[in-house]
This record gives sequence, structure tokens and C-alpha cells, in this order.
Amino acid sequence: MATREDILVELGLTPTWRRRGAVAALPAAIEREVPGAHALREPVPSFASSSGSAQDRGTRSARIASLSWDDFAADVDSCNACGLCRTRQKSVPGVGDADAEWLFVGEAPGAEEDVRGEPFVGQAGRLLDNMLAALGLARGRNVYIANVLKCRPPNNRTPEPGESDACRPYLERQVELIRPKLIVALGKSASSLLLGTDATIASLRGKVHQYRGVPLIVTYHPAYLLRNLPDKAKAWEDMVLARRTVATSDGSITSTEV
Ligand code: URA
Repeated sequence: MATREDILVELGLTPTWRRRGAVAALPAAIEREVPGAHALREPVPSFASSSGSAQDRGTRSARIASLSWDDFAADVDSCNACGLCRTRQKSVPGVGDADAEWLFVGEAPGAEEDVRGEPFVGQAGRLLDNMLAALGLARGRNVYIANVLKCRPPNNRTPEPGESDACRPYLERQVELIRPKLIVALGKSASSLLLGTDATIASLRGKVHQYRGVPLIVTYHPAYLLRNLPDKAKAWEDMVLARRTVATSDGSITSTEV
């Protein structure tokens, strides 16, 4: 039987996933701030707490639920449902193949994504691209990449519940429009939102979950992997399970242990 090492070599994951010296310098870069890029202006009331919000939320969700791809990015760009619209440079709706079988969902844009308007273009994105390449995939070819939040939280802080709730209809619409064969939740923000649980990645990975009838696999966020190199092997196991799930995706897999 092939060892994990054999698999990594066969799939071209070495040396890309194993250049420890090169990767060790990355975390500071990931968390780097663009100095003074976003001065917080007057606070915007949280979407979740705005008055008349129940009806407003329903109306807005219904409108987003009927968006076409043609209107999607512009709608995200004009969104002011939470305070992040005040501090972002560009909204980051998502990127990729509208008919993709694979949908990867991260947390939120970082500094580089905020400047470019595209998800996962920084250091974590380069690792994600390597993971895709190891699977024989590429950004935009049978792959769509989105985030829980479409706008960058200041200082790359963790999304607040009101922000995730406000952005949720956009991700739901993306899943509806793409109808992927598999969703890969990258990290806790994505797994919490999509599965409605606070459970750890360690406890959620290694199984095939379901999100609205679409198989969903949880794995570590690439930024986390850059700081926790030993867990890359586990992430690769998750990608192997993901590939098997896409290959057999006929709705029959509901719970598979690695
Ligand atoms: N991290 C994310 O979760 N998303 C990005 O787009 C970039 C970094």
C-alpha cells in the first residue's frame, strides 16, 4: 500500500508542501497590515441590530436569492449591510468557473485580496493554488473560490456574527448558482457558517457532511497550515477524501471516515 509520502511525491506535493525554510517566514507576511489603509469612519449599525431588520432582512435575502451571475458582483459591491463596506477598498465576491464541481469557501479577504478584489491571492492563496494543482485543478477551471465575507474585516480580525449573517445570503446564492459537486470549507468561519456548528476543525474533518444536499468536507484554512506545518498531511488526507467524493458524487455518500 502506498505510504502518505509516496502519495505526496506522486501528486507533486513535494517539494512544494515541504519547503519548511521557505514557509517559516510566511505568517508575518500573511498577517501584515497595509499601514493606514483603512481609517474607520463613523460606525455603521450592525446589520443584525438595525431597526425593522426582520422584514428588511427577509426582503434583502429574497432579492439576493434571485440574483443572476450577471448581477451578482455589482450587488455585492453596492452592499452596505454591515460596517465593512466603510473600510474595504474592493469587495471580493468570488472567482472561478460558474459551473464548477468544486467550491472552496474561505473566511474573508485579507489585505491583498482587498486591494485586488479577488479571493486568496496572498500567501495563503499560493498554498491553496498548490493544493489545487496537486489535485489536478486550477483556479477558474472546474473550481470556484469564495469567502464567508465578501469584504475585508479591519486588521484581518475574525468575522463578527452580524457580518457573517449579513453576508450569508450571498454565499447561499453562490452555492445555488454553482450547484457544485462538493464544497470544501476552509477553516472554522466557513465550517461554522455552513454547518451551523462551533465544533473544531479537528472534529469535523475526515467526514463528508452535507450542506443543502451538497457534500461538504471541512479542512484547515491555508493560513493556518502555513503556521502549523505538521497539519499539512492531514489537509492532504482531506483533499484525497474530497477527490474521492467528487468522483463518486451521486448523493449517496453521507458519512465516510478517512
Ligand atoms: N483568507 C481567506 O479566507 N480568504 C481570502 O480570500 C484570503 C485569505
